[in-house]
Amino acid sequence: MNETRTALVTGANKGIGYAIASGLGALGYRVGVGARDESRRDTAVEKLRAAGADAFGVPLDVTSDRSVTGAAELIERRAGRLDVLVNNAGISGEMDPGWLQDPTTLDPELVRTVVETNVIGVVRVTNAMLPLLKRSASPRIVNVSSAVASLTRQADPRIEIGPVMAAYAPSKTFLNAVTVQYARQFAGTDILINAACPGLVATDFTGFHGPRTPEQGAATAIRLATLPDGGPTGSFFEDDGVIPW
Ligand code: NAP
Repeated sequence: MNETRTALVTGANKGIGYAIASGLGALGYRVGVGARDESRRDTAVEKLRAAGADAFGVPLDVTSDRSVTGAAELIERRAGRLDVLVNNAGISGEMDPGWLQDPTTLDPELVRTVVETNVIGVVRVTNAMLPLLKRSASPRIVNVSSAVASLTRQADPRIEIGPVMAAYAPSKTFLNAVTVQYARQFAGTDILINAACPGLVATDFTGFHGPRTPEQGAATAIRLATLPDGGPTGSFFEDDGVIPW
């Protein structure tokens, strides 16, 4: 089997996705930079290559069947298989001042939009890439989630977990639930799938507020993307270990 391992990171043109792509590139992975905007994608690929990574651009809008099918075809032509898929692309949806999404005034369309990217996008990309992942000896899937998805933490008034986010937080809870269903379906196979929380990271997503760098935010996803055979699956991790559901 070809020894070069190939990874695809969605939403890799900036922020945590870029840092995950960069980290995997530094570990010797050939990295597909999944991004929907051509110029942002090209810039990221150039930057990764300048840093020594074996990076290539993958046009990818996770909300489009056509785009995702095209991405799978491109990776098949380019690499013949996929070893790592990191579903990182995500959106918060519009927020009220104070990073609030008030459930009592929530626009159903906002919920639909956020779920379309954060959950359905992940299902679409994962299923399109599965035939390529199954050609790998050690396939790994990482879904970038958030600690705000933890119902245990959200429901505990003693835990400070930030503002009410009635579209974004449940979209990541939904993503976690889907992650567990995939893990159950993959039981007894070599495919490991887990959810990762990057912590509060200074990116466009947070208006560059947050104590962590994208590199720090990428660390857990990179660890889960490179798990040894027999490693954990169907779980939810942050730097310090497992996050309760
Ligand atoms: P970011 O800087 O806003 O980057 C988000 C990435 O997702 C961008 O590359 C964006 O592409 C891409 N994206 C959005 N919709 C897409 C679509 N339909 N198709 C393809 N790509 C799409 O945010 P980030 O902070 O790095 O967040 C990355 C992930 O971490 C997200 O899943 C987020 O929910 C999660 N997360 C972030 C934090 C944090 O503190 N930052 C905390 C917990 C979890 P464009 O440039 O084209 O928009």
